[in-house]
Amino acid sequence: MAELAGGLAPVFVCLTKQSVQLAKKIKSSSHNKWEIHGLASRCPEADILFDQANNHIVSLFLSGRPILGICAAGILIRALGPHLISKFSDAPVIAIAEDGSAIIPLLSSHHGGMALARKIAAATGGHLALTTAGDVRLGVSLDCPPKGFKLADERGAKAVMGRILDGGGVSIASTNYPETDYPEMDEFLAPLPKGQEVRISITTKAILPGPDHLVYHPLQLFLGVGCVRGCGADHLIEFVHDNLSKNGLAAGAIAAIVSVDLKGDEPAIRALSEELSCPIRLFTPDELEALTPRIENPSDIVFAEIGCHSVAEASALLAAGDDGALILSKTKTSGAAIAIAKASSPAATLKGRKPGRVFLVGIGPGRDDWRTPEASQMIARADILCGYKLYLDLLGPLAGHHNRREFALGEEEMRCRFALEEAAKGLDVAIICSGDAGIYAMGALVFELLDRKSDAGGVSAMARRVQVITTPGITAMQAAAARSGALLGHDFCAISLSDLLTPWEVIEQRLHGAGAGDFAIAFYNPVSMRRRTQLAKARDILLTYRKGDTPVVLATNLGRPQERIRYRTLASLDLAEIDMLTVVLVGSSQTRRLDLGRGQAVYTPRGYAKKSKIVL
Ligand code: SAH
Repeated sequence: MAELAGGLAPVFVCLTKQSVQLAKKIKSSSHNKWEIHGLASRCPEADILFDQANNHIVSLFLSGRPILGICAAGILIRALGPHLISKFSDAPVIAIAEDGSAIIPLLSSHHGGMALARKIAAATGGHLALTTAGDVRLGVSLDCPPKGFKLADERGAKAVMGRILDGGGVSIASTNYPETDYPEMDEFLAPLPKGQEVRISITTKAILPGPDHLVYHPLQLFLGVGCVRGCGADHLIEFVHDNLSKNGLAAGAIAAIVSVDLKGDEPAIRALSEELSCPIRLFTPDELEALTPRIENPSDIVFAEIGCHSVAEASALLAAGDDGALILSKTKTSGAAIAIAKASSPAATLKGRKPGRVFLVGIGPGRDDWRTPEASQMIARADILCGYKLYLDLLGPLAGHHNRREFALGEEEMRCRFALEEAAKGLDVAIICSGDAGIYAMGALVFELLDRKSDAGGVSAMARRVQVITTPGITAMQAAAARSGALLGHDFCAISLSDLLTPWEVIEQRLHGAGAGDFAIAFYNPVSMRRRTQLAKARDILLTYRKGDTPVVLATNLGRPQERIRYRTLASLDLAEIDMLTVVLVGSSQTRRLDLGRGQAVYTPRGYAKKSKIVL
C-alpha cells in the first residue's frame, strides 16, 4: 500500500497533570493538529483518555503514529522494545521531560523524528539531546530531506555522512541544479563543509548514487496513464520503466501517477503505484477536458468513449499545474498510453482525488493486544471510521481522533453503503467490526452490495470501483476456545442462531448436519432481546446426537473487563445464563473435560493417544 506510509499526526502521551500543561503549550505554538492523550486517572483534562499506558503506547506505535512521550524515556523503551522492526519503517518516538527542559529523540529520528524534536525544542526552549554524529557535528540529517524531495537510495546516506564526518567536503552539482532553484535544499545542505570528496545531486534525472555520491530527487514529475480494461500490469510497468530510462528520468522523481477517475480501480495502475511507491490521483473527464487546448495529441475516439480528448497528457498537465510542461508527450503501447509532465517546483500538495478505499477491519473481541498491527494501522490511516457504536467505543483512544460515523444495530446495509459511497468520493473508510470482519459481520454485505446492479439495490457506479481491503481479526470462537482449553482442536463448525436473515428451517437442517457429523460447534448470536427459544431448540436437537454430559463452554464479553467463562454440559445448558454477548461452544462426542485442581479446561483430542495406542 504505497500510500499507507507517513503523514500521521503526532500524539503527546501524558502521564501527569504537568505533562498535559506542557503538551498544551507546545500544541498552541502552531502545532494544533497534534493530539494530547492522557492517562485517565491522572490527566482528565487531556483531549483523549486511556486507562493503560503500556498498551496505549504500543497501540499508537503499531498504528505508525509519531509518539511524543512526556514521561521517562524508560517507560517508552520498555513498552516498545519488543515491537521494533526497522529504522526505515518504525514511527518516530521522542521522550520529553515534564518541564520541557530535555528533548530526547529515541527512535527513527531520521524518519521525521529529528524534525519533530527540533520543533519541540524550539517551543519549550529545552535542550535537544542529540546523539547521532551527523546531527551533533553538522546539524544535518542527510536521510531526512525537506518535504518534496526523496533520496534515490535511502540507505546510501549513512556511507556519505561517514565520509563527511571523516573530514570530507561536499560539492553540490547535478544536471538540473542549479538551473532550477531549490531554496529549501540550499538551506538544508548549507551546514555541510565544501570540498570534492563527496558529490550531492538534486535532479529529476536518473543518476546512479554511490558511496561518494548522494542523489536527491525533487518530486516534480507527474506520470499520466491511460489504459484499456484488463491491461497487463507487467506490460504497463515495463513500458513505463522503458520510457523513463529512454528519457533519462528517475522513477524516484515521480510525485504521483495520475489518470481519469474511471481508471481508479484498474489493477495495472494500482500495480504501477506499488512498483514506483507513489500515490495515484484521479480527475473527472470534465476536469481533463478543460485542458484540451494544452494537449499535444487530442483523440476524438477517447472523447467519444469517456468525454475528454486526452487522459495521459491532460492528467499529467493538470497535476503539474499551470506552470508545468509536458516533457514526454503521449506514448503508446498496446492497450496503454503514458505522458509525463514536469511541475516548476516540487509538489507541496497533490491535486486530484485519491482512489478511495474501504478497509474491512476486524478488531478482535476487545482487548488491545488481541488486535493485529495491520488493523491498528488501517484505523490510524482511515479518513473516517464507521461502525456500530459499541465496537467504535471498544477502540477507545485509538479512535478518538477520528471522524466517526456511528450506526445502530439493524442499520448494517446503511453502514456498508455509506462506506462505499464515501470511499467513492476519495476517502479511505474503515468499517469497524468486532472479531473478524468476514465472520457474521459486514464483510459479506459489502461484497453483496458491490455484486448488486446499481438499479437493484446496489451502489453507484463509482462506488463499485472502490477497492476493498480486508484485514483478518480474532473471532469470538477462537478467543473462547483459547480461554477454555482447546475445544476446537478437531473438526468444528460455526452456526449463527439468528433467524433474522436465515429461515429457522435452514438453521435446523444445519444443526442436524453438525450433530450427525459430530462437529464441535460454536453458536454465535445464541439469543437476542426478542429471540430466546432458538438455543433451547438447538440443544434439544443436539441431544438426539450426543450425550447430556457433552462439555459446553459459555464465554461472555471475551477480551473485555466483564469477561466470564463458564463450564456446563449440554443437558444443563440454562438459557437464563446466556445473553447476546456470549458465544456458546458445544463439544463433539470426543471432547473431554480436564480438571487438575487449578481450574477446568476442555479439549477435543485429535487422535494422538489412539495413534500411540494409549487409552485416555
Ligand atoms: N464478527 C464477530 C461476530 C459478530 S456476531 C466475530 O468474528 O467474533 C455477534 C455474536 O458474536 C455475539 O452474539 C456473540 O455470540 C459473539 N461475540 C462477539 N464478540 C464477542 C465477545 N467479545 N465475547 C463473546 N461473544 C462474542
